[in-house]
Amino acid sequence: MRPFTYTKARDVGEAVAELAGDESARFIAGGTNLLDLMKYDVERPTRLVDITGLPLDRIEETDEGGLSIGAMVRNTDIAYDPRIEAHYPLLSSALLAGASPQLRNSATTGGNLRQRTRCSYFYDTATPCNKREPGTGCPAKTGFARYHAILGASERCIATHPSDMCVAMAALGATVRVEGPDGARTIPFDAFHVLPGDTPQIESSLRHGEMIVAVDLPPAGFAENHSYLKIRDRLSYAFALVSAAAALKLDGDTIAEARLAMGGVAHKPWRDGDAEAAMRGKPASRDTFAAAADIFLAGADPVPGNAFKVDLARRTIVRALSQAAAGTPQSQTDKRIQ
Ligand code: SF4
Repeated sequence: MRPFTYTKARDVGEAVAELAGDESARFIAGGTNLLDLMKYDVERPTRLVDITGLPLDRIEETDEGGLSIGAMVRNTDIAYDPRIEAHYPLLSSALLAGASPQLRNSATTGGNLRQRTRCSYFYDTATPCNKREPGTGCPAKTGFARYHAILGASERCIATHPSDMCVAMAALGATVRVEGPDGARTIPFDAFHVLPGDTPQIESSLRHGEMIVAVDLPPAGFAENHSYLKIRDRLSYAFALVSAAAALKLDGDTIAEARLAMGGVAHKPWRDGDAEAAMRGKPASRDTFAAAADIFLAGADPVPGNAFKVDLARRTIVRALSQAAAGTPQSQTDKRIQ
């Protein structure tokens, strides 16, 4: 048992001030990941700042015609919000594909973005891990790597980001709003999570002391043609081997706009502008989707333990885009893949 202090913040300014200047302090909200990490002795905060009392638990319309999701909104409340279900069903579907009902009831928007990898070596303090202890090594590269990255990995780390929600937010082109000691700023979703490079312990572009206050969704929700397809080892409560968030805007049978993001393949939700651009103006056909998958996966560099994921990802992309084009999104209750 490692001692830590506990404070409950009354407003955002107080929360930010509590964290400033203390590198080992952490915000805590739903606790669905941080408490596990503390029990495993991976995270060792000396101070916890509880932010569950902050007025960030609402979903509100933005002036631009989108929705702003407060950092404290629970995952369940996003998934079943009628405005999300009607205008951003891709996000609702991705949320319902993730975790369990109990976890979704507790997990918050901000915490979902900040959750850490589920690499088993990261949680096992008896093994080396460059993310947990920089410079010690990466046993996943030659070991159990079924859940690990095939895109954007580095010599130091091949971990993946485990979120489903974030994959949909990446595809939708969301924006993260943060507040910190130097004021407020916005971060495009694609720039929020970072690749491991030489510093796998750094997972986002957040600066210490900055707090996520909201995630803003742009007006375009791709409600007509979307699908979130998650492939996993079992149908309930499992992280993705690979997942795809596909969204299309169709003009007849022609693709006017395409969005495609994947989970389970990289240190961040992976989106590829070239693959999306290659679909624009093309027929919404299997050939078009297969060509986009080839572009998306051109840089895939698996390790022996996850080489199967390249073909799995290719098939998942084609299937998810086909579901989106047909207007038959993957059901998250009947999990059979159509
Ligand atoms: Fe650690 Fe990353 Fe290697 Fe996993 S993949 S053991 S988190 S360095």
